[in-house]
Amino acid sequence: MRVGFIGLGNMGGGMSRNVLAAGHDLIVHDLREAAASELVAAGAAWAPTPRRAASGREIVITSLPGPRQVEDVLLGSGRLLEGLEPGSIWVDMSTSVPEVADRVRRQAEPRDVGVIDAPVAGMTTGAAAGTLHIFVGGTEADYRRSRPVLEAMGDPDRIRHVGPHGAGYTVKLMLNLLWFAHLCATAEVLAIGVAAGVDLATLRDSLVASSAASYFLETDVLSVLRDGDYDEGFALALACKDLGLAVDLARATGVPAEMSALVEQIYRRARAQYGDSGGEMLPIKLIEDLTGTPLRLRGGNG
Ligand code: NAD
Repeated sequence: MRVGFIGLGNMGGGMSRNVLAAGHDLIVHDLREAAASELVAAGAAWAPTPRRAASGREIVITSLPGPRQVEDVLLGSGRLLEGLEPGSIWVDMSTSVPEVADRVRRQAEPRDVGVIDAPVAGMTTGAAAGTLHIFVGGTEADYRRSRPVLEAMGDPDRIRHVGPHGAGYTVKLMLNLLWFAHLCATAEVLAIGVAAGVDLATLRDSLVASSAASYFLETDVLSVLRDGDYDEGFALALACKDLGLAVDLARATGVPAEMSALVEQIYRRARAQYGDSGGEMLPIKLIEDLTGTPLRLRGGNG
């Protein structure tokens, strides 16, 4: 298919490379032209503006930091909406919220331009490997038409149509909220158990085999426990953006969100402490620094 791709960062870089590798005809754009150099060398074309990246395209994908940048690219200085052609589809793979997309949709639909939200999970490793989970909100017809391109970026068994417009954004925000809550709770539990004298590997193994196990405890936490790697592929500034959007959603729906608000505050503390570009798992380091005890497995066991 003829594809436009805007936003070639930690996620969009790998995703767009996989779209090109799957044989699609690709035009790319980013604020940073240098982010496109490898893609252009591999056969993609460069567009100097988002609007130009939409020209002649059947599908135009955005992978941008959040709602503010999506609004600027579609409705503001990027003028992408004007460039979308009748019969084409805009696929927003950013972690965002429906408000901006709804405004785009109101203008796009009368011009026969489809709109779907298709945010992703699976970290930068999944983006590079083409094994992302993708949560699609929109009409069945637009989902079916965009699926061949989505399959270039995601695991076919984990590309899910989760409901009408906006449902993809919501599922993704709830996934991140729960994952960040797992992270904060796990950090406290491990720090308390170790401070009380239990060996870290024994504690973790026991919890993984118990009814308190989680995917986070079993798998994701290991990058910290084994390598001291707090995942700089996903910046604390973006994690705080996601938590803010999730708590806003709780406010808008009227659902009390005491735990979520606390998790957001812990993340904001980590961002203040370690900076915007620090890795998303640094709230674990907050606890390590407070207790003076790094949580590390000896000899890579676990
Ligand atoms: P990033 O900051 O690495 O990349 C964003 C890219 O967008 C950058 O290259 C930036 O130059 C470009 N950009 C920003 N504003 C622009 C504009 N106005 N016009 C053109 N280009 C612009 O972010 P990322 O980590 O790749 O995340 C992208 C999206 O995916 C975010 O919504 C994030 O929440 C989500 N996400 C990230 C991860 C992760 O592990 N990094 C995982 C799942 C989802």
